[in-house]
Amino acid sequence: YFNNNTLVFLDGNYVKADQAVCSVYAQSLHYGYAAFEGIRSYSTPAGTRIFKAKEHYERLHYSCRSVGLPLAYSVEELTDFTYQLLEQNNLTEAYIRPLVYAGEPNMGIKAPATSNVFIAAWEWGKYLGNQCLRLMVSPYERPNPRAVPIEAKIAGHYANSIIASSDAKNKGYDEALLLDMNGFVAEGPGSNFFYEKNGELHTAPAGSILKGITRNTVIELAQASGIKVHERFFTPEELNEAEGAFLTGTAAEVVGVSSIGEHVFRNPFENTIGAVLAAKYSALVTGRATSPVLTH
Ligand code: PMP
Repeated sequence: YFNNNTLVFLDGNYVKADQAVCSVYAQSLHYGYAAFEGIRSYSTPAGTRIFKAKEHYERLHYSCRSVGLPLAYSVEELTDFTYQLLEQNNLTEAYIRPLVYAGEPNMGIKAPATSNVFIAAWEWGKYLGNQCLRLMVSPYERPNPRAVPIEAKIAGHYANSIIASSDAKNKGYDEALLLDMNGFVAEGPGSNFFYEKNGELHTAPAGSILKGITRNTVIELAQASGIKVHERFFTPEELNEAEGAFLTGTAAEVVGVSSIGEHVFRNPFENTIGAVLAAKYSALVTGRATSPVLTH
């Protein structure tokens, strides 16, 4: 993630990565009480562009608000800091990780009056790789949205993600697919899920998922191509009828699924709607496509 020359943004300054340190008494470290984002920048014909910076930093504000974590910088300021950070580190195609955390030594369980803001960037290949994935329906559910604001990207929620993903990998699969508290399919540990049936797409509705920015983009790209997208609740049993599936996320982009549990798709991913959308997504983020959804 960093070397001796890497600079990171910390509370208004650009400092050497190894000088950006945090107390082991920090409230965030003990309670998972922090908000973060995962953003990507791409090399485009118009130069380095952060894809949907506004949407990501608006979601960071939403995440902070939803847990009462102060955030001192506006969406515009955060976007400017990030472009400067990329420039200072000579990065074009980067993964960007902003983190808002309660860094003061504090063992209390009350929202703090101030927070810290850290932004790092590094070159990172497609998370989950390019190979099609073998998913397993996880025995671990997504956190109950009545217990935590599940539409916020809160550090503590990712204990659930790590547990489910590690369990799937230990059982010989590539990734977990988690259900919600009612037994409907929700999402992956760090991505949203779509399946294809009769030329149409189905994905979980808002409520028990992180409403991914990639998910929204893919829905827009599908609809612009005349492909129907159903945002609805569905059971894991319905996936036995699926003809294809894929995961979406900023880090993963659009990645194909080859099987879910014992159900192996007959059609190779290249012949599915997911593959078409993966290509469209890639063209959009790299500025090789003009589209109404291209916002930077
Ligand atoms: N769900 C979860 C649980 C995630 O962590 C992510 C990654 N942020 C996503 C979905 C996909 O969101 P996005 O497309 O905004 O990256």
